[in-house]
Amino acid sequence: MARRRMIYEGKAKILYEGPEPDTLIQYFKDDATAYNAEKRDVIEGKGVLNNRLSEHFMTGLNQIGVPTHFIKRLNMREQLVRMVEIIPLEVVVRNVAAGSMSKRLGVDEGTALPRPIIEFYLKDDALGDPLVTEEHIIAFNWASQQDVDDMIALALRVNDFMSGLMYGVGIRLIDFKIEIGRIFEGDFQRLIVADEISPDSCRLWDIESGQKLDKDVFRRDLGNLADAYTEVARRLGVLPRNGSTVPGPKLVQ
Ligand code: UDP
Repeated sequence: MARRRMIYEGKAKILYEGPEPDTLIQYFKDDATAYNAEKRDVIEGKGVLNNRLSEHFMTGLNQIGVPTHFIKRLNMREQLVRMVEIIPLEVVVRNVAAGSMSKRLGVDEGTALPRPIIEFYLKDDALGDPLVTEEHIIAFNWASQQDVDDMIALALRVNDFMSGLMYGVGIRLIDFKIEIGRIFEGDFQRLIVADEISPDSCRLWDIESGQKLDKDVFRRDLGNLADAYTEVARRLGVLPRNGSTVPGPKLVQ
């Protein structure tokens, strides 16, 4: 079999050339990294879980009219996605203070914010993904003013959808990161949600106990990361009760 052409290898995913023009295959690895890859490990099963969870979130977004790159899941670790031109910004939406915002501003983790706050970080590992303002984005031409307005609108729609979905299964969506890409349709360009949405890129706290069900379990050595992600997947009905992603044989009576 001819080997597929690898387009890009990131910390948690690999992108391969897709079967049709303007498509890519996104492969989810088991690698976990944090603190700009200073902390790293292999968490067995993480890639399978994130593939399923990202499929679940992106499918839901597509169904309510929030455009994403997701086309279909191909197998346990791979999904077919639309090729986009990634905007070199991480878009973070926060509902509750945590992580870098708590550190930077001295706000206690867990403080509910009066409204969702959107932040942009420049995707640049060498610089440690610095926080940037709209002024920087436009001055340095990473995106236009129209793009910024569209990114904010998209991010808020994703936030409302994800907050509601999580609330329904007893989880508080504290914050999350998305990446956004451009697609070109004739003379027009459109922005769509790209990359992944998974517990790697969200903060998810159990509403009752406050237990963390996201990558902070790895970042802060709080327990088994795959168990936390499995719990999220189970609650959302993405995994059958026994935790297996493959449906077992059914007893014929
Ligand atoms: N995030 C991410 N990738 C990054 C940085 C942050 O997915 O490179 C997510 C992170 O999981 C959290 C949100 O964005 O849900 C906000 O992260 P924060 O700025 O607090 O940074 P952190 O504390 O994760 O370094």
